[in-house]
Amino acid sequence: MSIAKNLLSIKNTLPEQVTLVAVSKTKPVPDLMEAYDAGQRIFGENKIQEMADKWEEMPKDIQWHMIGHVQTNKVKFMATFVNLIHGVDSFKLLKEINKQALKNNRIIDCLLQMHIAEEETKFGLDEEELNSLIASSEFEEMKNIRITGLMGMATFTDNQDQIKKEFSHLKIIFDKLQSQQTENCQMNTLSMGMSGDYKLAISCGSTMVRIGSSIFGGRN
Ligand SMILES: *Cc1c(COP(=O)(O)O)cnc(C)c1O
Repeated sequence: MSIAKNLLSIKNTLPEQVTLVAVSKTKPVPDLMEAYDAGQRIFGENKIQEMADKWEEMPKDIQWHMIGHVQTNKVKFMATFVNLIHGVDSFKLLKEINKQALKNNRIIDCLLQMHIAEEETKFGLDEEELNSLIASSEFEEMKNIRITGLMGMATFTDNQDQIKKEFSHLKIIFDKLQSQQTENCQMNTLSMGMSGDYKLAISCGSTMVRIGSSIFGGRN
């Protein structure tokens, strides 16, 4: 199967309200261009340098999503062009994004990454940390970021019940926040689901799926 065919067959199965992020990390530009030529405009990368290199080389109507863990000192390398940062998991990082966005005279959209998996290794906030962040006056004063939703990754397991439980938990947290929309916090995106679990994620309320290997093939 070609990249274009993979992409289009996945797109055909997605409900209208679900946005597809084509996760192109480690893949060369010609592979991304094949997806681009098939109509894809949103790409997800997990390394800032790699994303910046691809951004420079590729058409400028692409929206670049940073889906990986972000080191504070590297925010400046993507602040001019990144469209959405999925993995915001600390106040310190949010502060730096706000600072760099201000420097570039823009507002950068961010998702707060929630810890929903059982594994210790996955990054993310718990519900209490999320609530105190959003309620803080320091957050209220950040004019150059906008929280547009939440992101989460389920435990790496074959146990569908467990994955479903974790996705459903994130959806409940997301729904609770719908009622408290402010200028820099407007919850409309729920980023959950990858190649192996996106169908389940959509059935649990995902509005944005991040799919890599099912489009571009496996990675080394
Ligand atoms: C790599 C990655 C994906 C895509 O994974 P696939 O299994 O290849 O679809 C999605 N989300 C994040 C955060 C990733 O790092």
